[in-house]
Amino acid sequence: MQSALQTRSKLPDVGTTIFTVIARLAAEHDALNLSQGAPNFMPDATLIEDVAQAMRDGHNQYAPMTGIATLREALAQKVETLYGVRYDTSSEVTVIASASEGLYSTISALVHAGDEVIYFEPSFDSYAPIVRLQGATPVPIKLSLPDFRVNWDEVSAAITPKTRMIIVNTPHNPTATVFKDHDMERLKAVTRNTDIVILSDEVYEHVIFDGAKHLSMARDQELAERSVIVSSFGKSYHVTGWRVGYCVAPAALMDEIRKVHQFMMFSADTPMQYAFAAALAQPQSYLGLAAFYQQKRDLLANALRDSRFELLPSEGSFFMLARFRDFSDESDSDFVLRLIRDAKVATIPLSAFYTDGTDSGLIRLSFSKDDATLLEGARRLCSI
Ligand code: GLN
Repeated sequence: MQSALQTRSKLPDVGTTIFTVIARLAAEHDALNLSQGAPNFMPDATLIEDVAQAMRDGHNQYAPMTGIATLREALAQKVETLYGVRYDTSSEVTVIASASEGLYSTISALVHAGDEVIYFEPSFDSYAPIVRLQGATPVPIKLSLPDFRVNWDEVSAAITPKTRMIIVNTPHNPTATVFKDHDMERLKAVTRNTDIVILSDEVYEHVIFDGAKHLSMARDQELAERSVIVSSFGKSYHVTGWRVGYCVAPAALMDEIRKVHQFMMFSADTPMQYAFAAALAQPQSYLGLAAFYQQKRDLLANALRDSRFELLPSEGSFFMLARFRDFSDESDSDFVLRLIRDAKVATIPLSAFYTDGTDSGLIRLSFSKDDATLLEGARRLCSI
């Protein structure tokens, strides 16, 4: 339809997200999709049955704005058992309509126009646009190659009186690195005696490998007191399309976040909340995830052993980075296009996770796929 209206975009340089672009190309070329961090296998049948049962039981109207009480209780219990801190279920735990909503509500509630928000690149692609929509300034700090660690001296130097928030993400999408004790200590030191809020994206909290411990901000009292922790059921229960997540934060911060959440979504999907409350009563449902995905990581890495790619270590998340620079000078985007067209396998160019398009000759592979898909994907990648 024609419209003569002047659009005046708030995000003139932002296009469609890379995940949608690549998924479309993959479908067009009938390529196998190792790009999106979304499982291609079924969730637990009990979970589906519990959602259906909740619907049959009449739980089909708005849930309470903050989430159903049994789910908030189960979440507070889980966080306390795993990370040792008790969040108050009535004022400090909120069920949200996806971690994406949690990120948006948190940034929108706490970041004012003119503020600065530090985050690390490569990063998930929504952080910076959300900050910009508040009239605030995203301040990207590049993770240092070759191992994508945070350079805390740089963070220290980037902090100004306008810094309102630091966004962290562990396990990290897209680099598959995880925070170490040293990162927690430095983060504490750089934020001490400031009003900086830490927004901690922990959606891969249960997907961490080789026996490592997930360093949630909740593990440390001093960090927890200034942190909003956002997590998701989508990753932990193989249901990324259900769009239910949760966040925990000290009451004063949560108060503000709820003011935005109530007008953006009001509440998250009701029947799913009943099913997740039941699922959380079985801790092995999430405690087994690390081993489950480690097997997938190893299967893919082994199958790529004889390929020309150099694989970077994956410490957590659904992802693994693969370097192709030694055998091709193409840009990572061109390389990814060629993989889709010629090898019929879709991946994500790492440059898509940088605002300045930094290209280090790396692609992101997702191993949140059934074993047959991983083996076939690897076979195709080996043909390059
Ligand atoms: N978090 C997932 C990824 O990084 C998918 C995000 C999306 O498709 N919007 O692949």
